[in-house]
Amino acid sequence: MNELRKDYLLDRFVIIAPGRAQRPHLIKPDENVSQKRDYESKCTFCPGNEHMLNGITSEVKKDNNWIIRVVPNKFGAVSLEGDPEVRTANKFYTYASAYGVHEVIVETPEHDKELENLSQEHIMGVLQTYVWRIKELHAMPHIKYVSVFKNRGIEAGASIPHSHSQVIAYNIKPSWIAEELRVVYNYIIQNESCPYCEIIQKEKDSDRRVFENEFFVAFTPYASRFPYELWIFPKRHVANIVQLNGDELNNLASLLKKFLSKLEELGVPPYNLILHNAESDGENYHFYLEISPRLAKWAGMELETGTIINKIQPEEAAKFYRGEWQE
Ligand SMILES: [Zn+2]
Ligand SMILES: [Zn+2]
Repeated sequence: MNELRKDYLLDRFVIIAPGRAQRPHLIKPDENVSQKRDYESKCTFCPGNEHMLNGITSEVKKDNNWIIRVVPNKFGAVSLEGDPEVRTANKFYTYASAYGVHEVIVETPEHDKELENLSQEHIMGVLQTYVWRIKELHAMPHIKYVSVFKNRGIEAGASIPHSHSQVIAYNIKPSWIAEELRVVYNYIIQNESCPYCEIIQKEKDSDRRVFENEFFVAFTPYASRFPYELWIFPKRHVANIVQLNGDELNNLASLLKKFLSKLEELGVPPYNLILHNAESDGENYHFYLEISPRLAKWAGMELETGTIINKIQPEEAAKFYRGEWQE
């Protein structure tokens, strides 16, 4: 029997519908997701193709060669032009310029490396670049939120196979963070504690537990929307990745390497990696990192009802991450 489950806090339901195809090896990503990596000469992010970029914002160098690069997104969703103020005309028409900065973090000069193939030190460098971009862009006028995410594979929205992340700083707060902040705030008013701190305590010993050390807890969320969805929480109550200290950030780099490498057993699946950050007005929020493999297509049911069908039980996904799959 399928089960309807609600998100811990949000009014968001999923249907957990484990079918016969619940073993990981039976789930094959679409052929186009493990994109072919045979076109270095045409790749915008490869060394030697700088003429294809719209400039270079910054570089992290090692032995005089760049190892991480921040570049403007050539087809940015936002730009520093127009009027950033949000206005409403005639009651129903709310608008503003799509104002802000859209950047790409090229994580490595090597075309055929995935994030998890890089050294822990290098991944730490990518995380430090996230932190630095968030701090710098957040300080700009009219910026309400700095969104950091990574899409891997066409199914997850990546148009270029060369490993990269994206940063979008813009003039509105995304609806999901506004909703989460509201729910967390209400919870704290009623219970005088952070709901995520409580959820971490429950999940670290549940069937959905994946990993725990002194800094982090990882688990597959109760109402996982995606097969093998994984959440990684710092134990320390911080609202934004910029508040993690060096030891925590370095540890997070090792966990990313560990779990993304584990995901490769599913055939290098497409995934979205999302930072759940709150800005300065969200001190009650609890930062976490979400990894959502995109192995299932959403159809009319998902789009029409907003209720997502997930064919992999989170409890089974947790066993996969813990290395407890038995044939
Ligand atoms: Zn490339
Ligand atoms: Zn907390």
